[in-house]
Amino acid sequence: MSLTKRILLAMVLGIALGLLLNGFTSPGGWIERYLVEGLFDMVGTIFVNSLKLLVVPLVFVSLVCGTASLGETSRVGPMAGKTVGLYVLTTAIAITLAIGVASLLGPGKGLSLTATGGAEMDVGLSLKDTIVNIFPSNPIQAMADGSMLQVIVFSLLFGFAISRSGEKGRAIAGFFNNLNEVVMQMILMLVQLAPYGVFCLLAKLFASMGFEVFEDLVFYFFTVVGVLLMQCLLVYPALLRALARVNPITFFRKMYPVQVFAFSTASSNATLPYTLSTVEKKLGVDNKVASFTLPLGATINMDGTSIMQGVATVFIAQAYGVDVGIMGYLMVVLTATLASIGTAGVPGVGMVTLTMVLQQAGLPIEEGIALIIGVDRLLDMLRTSVNVTGDAAVTTVVANSESLLDSDTYEAPADR
Ligand code: ASP
Repeated sequence: MSLTKRILLAMVLGIALGLLLNGFTSPGGWIERYLVEGLFDMVGTIFVNSLKLLVVPLVFVSLVCGTASLGETSRVGPMAGKTVGLYVLTTAIAITLAIGVASLLGPGKGLSLTATGGAEMDVGLSLKDTIVNIFPSNPIQAMADGSMLQVIVFSLLFGFAISRSGEKGRAIAGFFNNLNEVVMQMILMLVQLAPYGVFCLLAKLFASMGFEVFEDLVFYFFTVVGVLLMQCLLVYPALLRALARVNPITFFRKMYPVQVFAFSTASSNATLPYTLSTVEKKLGVDNKVASFTLPLGATINMDGTSIMQGVATVFIAQAYGVDVGIMGYLMVVLTATLASIGTAGVPGVGMVTLTMVLQQAGLPIEEGIALIIGVDRLLDMLRTSVNVTGDAAVTTVVANSESLLDSDTYEAPADR
């Protein structure tokens, strides 16, 4: 059986076993101690750590290779412009769709809650600090902290410098190209663990999930899921068809194992090694494009997250009977787009940056978050799948526009 099928099977079996155990797990019982919190947690954590291990070396080496070869041409500026433009556009579409659908369906109507107006949270994210923090003062520190934007900036500079260093630069570029092959090989080796990792992560999660919290939030939950599906099944296919003229079904056939990965880890960053190798090796995107657009996307492009934030804002406004108004929602679109840029690709951060959006809309922050947090873990997993799909879709479009998409590889059968 191919690896992609095994990953899918692992997901189904993991969820099924988790749900089954959910009924039998008693707090402190042996199933919980030895199986759920023992074996499953151990294998799942080792799997996620082994992926995270690769993120910094991968982004550094791959991006240096990409810019070292692109630096000789003058394509970097236009490519970066298109990428950021498309990332912002897809995020803005996502959040507008979310606000539109949630306003129509009204998931929070009839809850009639009143805010007690307790202490407001200080969300003080200063724009100046955010910009200053993109630029590293110490590359080793940036790598140790996993500050992705700082690593990206350093790698870009390094790659450019290589492209301008003549003969000596070419020797270094050759070394980095070889190193890139080795890192890619490491990814392929570790990806073999994926079925076990995915199985254990999902079995643990579903075995320990409290389903009671869903009762009041079913409507909210399914509104988010519905808009996530719309983004995946309408917006990305339209983008791929209209701007890259490629078959979206082929795209999804090759991307679904990556989506399962993202679903199980709830982290765009941890999924990045697999996204990158799939987009390059299966969708045929040249490393010059993918090495830049994907790490950037995993850091700043969160369409799924902004969908959750859009629906959450409308839901909380309805539940507390606050009229946000058209202008208010326009500001929400703007703030949520910025919040998506500020959301790191790790589990649960979307909930933190939601505070910015709620503050902007004048909604109760702490109470609002407390209202929806119960179902957030599952939504986090689903929205992360959409986040990585958005990164890959934009990458394909940008690669095609730069004539750096190999159509033979794109069209080749999905299974290896
Ligand atoms: N978990 C998401 C991601 O990694 C971010 C979030 O929405 O919390 O893409």
